[in-house]
Amino acid sequence: MTKHTVTLIPGDGIGLETTASMRRVVEAAGVDIVWEVADAGAAVMERTGGSPLPEETIESVRRNKVAIKGPITTPVGTGFRSVNVALRKTLDLYACVRPVLSIPGAGGRYENVDLVVVRENTEDLYAGIEFPKDSEGAQRLIEFCEEQGTGTIRPDSGISIKPISVTATERIVRYAFEYALAHGRRKVTAVHKANIMKHSDGLFLQVARNVAEEYAGRVDFDDRIVDAFCMNVVIDPSQFDVIVFPNLYGDIASDLCAGLVGGLGIAPGANIGEDYAIFEAVHGSAPDIAGKDLCNPTAEILSAAMMLDYLGEDDAAQRIREAVRKVYAEGRFITGDIRKATGSDEPACSCTEFTDALVAAL
Ligand code: NAD
Repeated sequence: MTKHTVTLIPGDGIGLETTASMRRVVEAAGVDIVWEVADAGAAVMERTGGSPLPEETIESVRRNKVAIKGPITTPVGTGFRSVNVALRKTLDLYACVRPVLSIPGAGGRYENVDLVVVRENTEDLYAGIEFPKDSEGAQRLIEFCEEQGTGTIRPDSGISIKPISVTATERIVRYAFEYALAHGRRKVTAVHKANIMKHSDGLFLQVARNVAEEYAGRVDFDDRIVDAFCMNVVIDPSQFDVIVFPNLYGDIASDLCAGLVGGLGIAPGANIGEDYAIFEAVHGSAPDIAGKDLCNPTAEILSAAMMLDYLGEDDAAQRIREAVRKVYAEGRFITGDIRKATGSDEPACSCTEFTDALVAAL
């Protein structure tokens, strides 16, 4: 049996519960893993007075090459920028991959949804290039745009910049096509707002079309304007297969697509780069239910199954996925979020009870 060392970043909020549950399930599946636990988030800052993303944590991921994390709370408006965004940028985890798959019994409104969201993870409005209202940077940009005749920006504006490059678009679209080929998928759809943002989304679309030509005859390609995509995916998700997005739309569409199959509690994900990969659920730290043993650990557990695929532990990954489907199909153990989504009369179970049922089903 191969021994793997993986960095485990429990995060905060429900992350402490979902990652503990995930760890139990992976160990019960018989995979030999050494978990190198590393911290990140507000709690670290309070304890050490230092950065919310300590250098040791980044070093641990660099050393082990593979990490799995729980969600980390990001203060809104003020305070530190997202640790998640910083990790993705620092380690160049350029591809965010989020499979959206129906699980019978998990409360989705559609049967047989089977999509993959591929989100560019390093640029767009999430690049973090921002100028606060009244800052020198904002004033200079406002003057620059005035001089260029590109249109007037009101003087009391805060400004976020949206860079979209040929380099990042080529590699994310190529990633989507390679993923499609490796997983026997038929089509890649590029989503954009090229009709309005001609030089950012327009470039994304043009580059996507160029890359698509390389795969012509092997994988189909089409594109959608983001608003039309939102309507169409809700009307009929089966129109889509692998969908590639610039960063911001991909973030929003991930939650939208998770809603098609029963919600955030069952939506897994991965952030993948050339050298490193970090696996994590789509959901956040859910402060409303944190610490109460109420959360659904499925998303984190399915993220671990993706990690096991990546580590070459396909057999254990498959057994975990089958156990998840079995527990949902039986319907005796469902957490509160799924109870709401299904309208079931079964009482909601705790995260611990769900984990016990899953371990028993392995
Ligand atoms: P959220 O995903 O934490 O919660 C949204 C809703 O879904 C809440 O009602 C929550 O109770 C429910 N929910 C989410 N996951 C669940 C689960 N596993 N089981 C049961 N119910 C679940 O989104 P939010 O409230 O917008 O964000 C809370 C915090 O998390 C914010 O600080 C945000 O920045 C952060 N966040 C972190 C990540 C990450 O670390 N990758 C991702 C998204 C949000």
